[in-house]
Parts: sequence; structure tokens; C-alpha cells
Amino acid sequence: MLERRGIIVHPEELDNKWLDDIEKAGINVLGLHPVGGWRANLTLKEAVERHQTPEFQALLKRAKEMGVTVEYEAHALRYLMPKELFEEHPDWFRMDDKGERVSDHNMCAMNEEALEYLADSTEKLTRTLDTGSDRFFWWADDVEGGAVCHCDKCRDLSPSDQLMKITNAMLKGVKRVKPEGKIAFLAYHDALVPPTKVAADEGVFLEYAPIGRDSHRPMNDAGCEKNVSEGHALKELIAFFGKENSQVLEYWMDNSRFSNWTKPPKAMPLDEAVMKEDVAYYRGLGFESITSFGCYLGPDYRELHGQPPVQPYGDILKSVE
Ligand SMILES: [Zn+2]
Repeated sequence: MLERRGIIVHPEELDNKWLDDIEKAGINVLGLHPVGGWRANLTLKEAVERHQTPEFQALLKRAKEMGVTVEYEAHALRYLMPKELFEEHPDWFRMDDKGERVSDHNMCAMNEEALEYLADSTEKLTRTLDTGSDRFFWWADDVEGGAVCHCDKCRDLSPSDQLMKITNAMLKGVKRVKPEGKIAFLAYHDALVPPTKVAADEGVFLEYAPIGRDSHRPMNDAGCEKNVSEGHALKELIAFFGKENSQVLEYWMDNSRFSNWTKPPKAMPLDEAVMKEDVAYYRGLGFESITSFGCYLGPDYRELHGQPPVQPYGDILKSVE
């Protein structure tokens, strides 16, 4: 059986009913994902505050007793490198394509002082949100369209190379807390191809999130332009990062995406036929963990639409060799 079968929810949507459903469906990895987008630094801050509350700690304790691994998955860069640093250290931030330093997203990937600051703040966050797992998912900012650094040193690095530098620096911080700690390289948006100039440090694993896909056509459907585009370098990504610890982060159950990231949540039928084909395809490529976002399926969803399709989702993951 597939060893890691996961679902990723917004922390504020997690409740005991969710845990009941996860247990029944045989899901054994629970990801906690603060809302992405341009407010991701604030939603991560809220998640850190929520994490300390007795109510949330009780949910985490129950998940642990059920044998479920809990892991945070967050766009963490702007939280880890706050804008407030810009005034004193503009060169820590990215240079846009007009040659101006800007504090909107991401950072200069080649500034050693900035990378050291990032390692330090990652160490703190890793300590604060320790759930017992040795896998961490601290991602760069939730942007696309070249929000990378164009300074002299970064100019020749692709978005994937810049993300690799950033991910390696965050891994340093993780390892100070957990010597066996690992971190995900999020292949997503502008970074759907492997780096070519920067090597992955020991402890980086592949996480693949095809946000631009068509969820009603199989991923390996050669006639689907969107899926071909999202998956064109998948084999190269696996060759670069290896199969060990590799994780798919899919959108089969992502009702925030199906609801266009706007509440109230829409009713969400699971496309079981497509999911079955995709799971077999990913497994054939060698992925060890298969997970999906499961956002906008919490208490407000149940109130409006009844039970979300957690059971069929878990059944499909359990049916894989
Ligand atoms: Zn730079």
C-alpha cells in the first residue's frame, strides 16, 4: 500500500469531525496550510498563534494518537524575511527587471547575509511549529510571472535555481532543530523544471504541485495542453531530486481552487475516474507520498453541502500498490 496518504487543510477548518473522517478514510498524513496568496505572511502568523492554543493542541494530540503525521505546509518566505528589513537591508531583497530593489515577494537568492538571516528565522519557525515530523514544507512566496531577483549575481539563475538556493538556506535552519530534518523543493508555477546551476543539499526532496492542471483530464493525457505543460518536466524533476521522500501535492480535493478561492464553498464532487488514473500514473513514476489540498471542506462546507467526499478519496489512495 502507498505509505503516505495525505490531505492538506486550512488550520482554521480543522475540527474533530475532520479527524473522524480522516481516521475512517485511512488517511495518515495531515497537512496544515495557512491560506496562500499575498497575505500568506499574515495567515502564517495566525497559524503560529493558533498552534499554541489549548483547543488546537488537543486536535494535534488526537491526530497523533490516531497515528496521523501532522506537517505544516506554508508559503513562508515573506514571514521569514519581513518587509520591515527592507529599509536597513535593501540588498537582501530582490531586484526587479527595471533594476529597482523591491520588497514585494521573494528575495535576493545570492546575498549571503540574507540567506543567513533566512536560516536563522527558519530555525525559529521550525522550533515553534514542531509537530514531531522530520519533514518540513517551508515554501517561497506564492507568486508567478518572474517575481525573482534580477541583480548581477542572480540574473543568470532560473527561478528554479533561485528557489534551490533559498530552499538550501532554509534547510540549514531546519537541521539546527532536527539534524535528520528534510525540506521540500516545491515544484510549482515558475519552478516546474529542475535547477541547472545549483545543487540540492542532502535533505531536500521533491514536492510537485500542478496548480495549472485541468482537474477533469488525467495528468498523462497527451491531448490536454494544460496537463502537458504542467507535467512536461516531471521525469526530469524526479531524476534530479530522486524518488526518496518525493511527494505529490494534488488538487483533486481542493475546493478552495474549485470555489475560485472565495467563500462560501461550492459543492464539490470528486472526479474519481481522473483521480484513479492520476494516482496510478504518479505511483508508476515512483512518488512515495500522495496528498491533495482539501481546503474549503470544513464545518461551513458540511453546513451547506453535507459530507465532503473524504471516504472515496481515502479509498482510492488505499487501493494503490
Ligand atoms: Zn540577487
